[in-house]
Amino acid sequence: MSYVDEVYDLVVAKNPAQPEFHQAVKEVLESLRVVIEANEEQYRKDALLERLVTPERQLLFRVPWVDDKGQVQVNNGFRVQFNSAIGPYKGGLRLHPSVNLGIIKFLGFEQIFKNSLTGLPIGGGKGGSDFDPKGKSDREVMAFCQSFMTELHKYIGADTDVPAGDIGTGGREIGYMYGQYKRLTGLYEGVLTGKGLTYGGSLARTEATGYGLLYLTEEMLKCNGKDIAGKTVAISGSGNVAIYAAQKAQQLGAKVVTVSDSTGWVYDPEGIDVDLLKEVKEVKRARLTEYAAARKSAEYHEKKNGEHGVWNVKCDVALPCATQNELDLEDAKALVANGCFAVAEGANMPTTMEATEYLQANGVLFCPGKAANAGGVATSALEMSQNSERLSWTFEEVDSKLKSIMVNIFHNLDDAAKKYGMAGNYVAGANIAGFLKVAEAMTAQGIV
Ligand code: NDP
Repeated sequence: MSYVDEVYDLVVAKNPAQPEFHQAVKEVLESLRVVIEANEEQYRKDALLERLVTPERQLLFRVPWVDDKGQVQVNNGFRVQFNSAIGPYKGGLRLHPSVNLGIIKFLGFEQIFKNSLTGLPIGGGKGGSDFDPKGKSDREVMAFCQSFMTELHKYIGADTDVPAGDIGTGGREIGYMYGQYKRLTGLYEGVLTGKGLTYGGSLARTEATGYGLLYLTEEMLKCNGKDIAGKTVAISGSGNVAIYAAQKAQQLGAKVVTVSDSTGWVYDPEGIDVDLLKEVKEVKRARLTEYAAARKSAEYHEKKNGEHGVWNVKCDVALPCATQNELDLEDAKALVANGCFAVAEGANMPTTMEATEYLQANGVLFCPGKAANAGGVATSALEMSQNSERLSWTFEEVDSKLKSIMVNIFHNLDDAAKKYGMAGNYVAGANIAGFLKVAEAMTAQGIV
């Protein structure tokens, strides 16, 4: 049996009931096959793949907090410190009821390669909790965040592990966590990114993942003889990534016609009104029904079981920006049938493997999340640099660094795909380019 297959079987056997983690490992290992096989003897002797798929450390902890009725609530807390070969662990904290160890491990594993692709010195990690900030008062969110950080602070630090936002963790949550970290340690250091501008945050961090997604998409289209200007774009999600993806797409001359949340989706043929969307989602923290009520041209569709309406709309470019496995084979077929020619993932692993294969087989340009959404973590690393320097760069400085990082990422993965005889396969290119740097650093550092 080949080394790749052996290690995948081992992952399934050792990590039961973690389908998302299995899926992420399978996708990466499959596309690394050619690279691994070229160096199989050495990698096998060093157990390089076994070490790569096993987190350096997994922290699971209790998060007790008191709700507004005086009732004690208990959530599960997670931090997976996956790989520190090329820098301190770096990756967000997801707060969502669906969070479990397998999901955090899939995200942490992906993060290793994503962080490597940015070209910056950051290792891979991820964390979070099954706490749901939705519908909670500010005081309840603060109580949870303080309790979460009371345990987590023992394991993180500006040079060891630097968490950031993710689903459910925005500026408010990062603020409460940062305050508690400072109170417990007495340290004013860059231990979290996505901080507010008054206490060490970076300009353009809020916009970075969505803007970066569009910078990369623009470059991918340009290198394939196409232009984003004038194109129709379908976006899913209406959170941080989706909002700023929509904003940048429109600044680049495209028309964004959809957004969604977990209960429904909006089709707005005149183009999404980003200011209104920001008001509804960022200020009022309301549902998309409020967007539709305030905008004549918008149609609201309730999400029915198993139906992902956004992908049935005619578009040239699709940008899934909500959550994992939200674009399946049926959706991929609908996109191809409607003439969509490019998909770039704003979310982490939003496209199922079958859907990815179908899109690629039908000539759709497909860029995986670990490359396309790396602008967020790249700008987080820029925030770390500013914190270390005790300086703040201008919006334009950060944005132009972000743009050149995203353009470089695209060329790195494009070159890697070509070098290994898979031109145009950006999934393989991203995995190979991300892997080679980490593998070299792991090998150089000996058996640790
Ligand atoms: P937000 O919490 O700001 O927004 C998430 C959006 O996705 C919301 O519209 C939410 O709807 C929707 N959503 C979440 N879970 C589900 C679900 N199970 N089914 C359907 N819709 C869902 O998160 P972000 O925008 O920050 O993150 C979105 C994706 O991008 C995630 O995959 C994240 O890991 C990834 N990402 C984020 C980065 C960042 O910098 N923020 C960086 C790189 C990747 P609702 O409000 O109804 O829950």
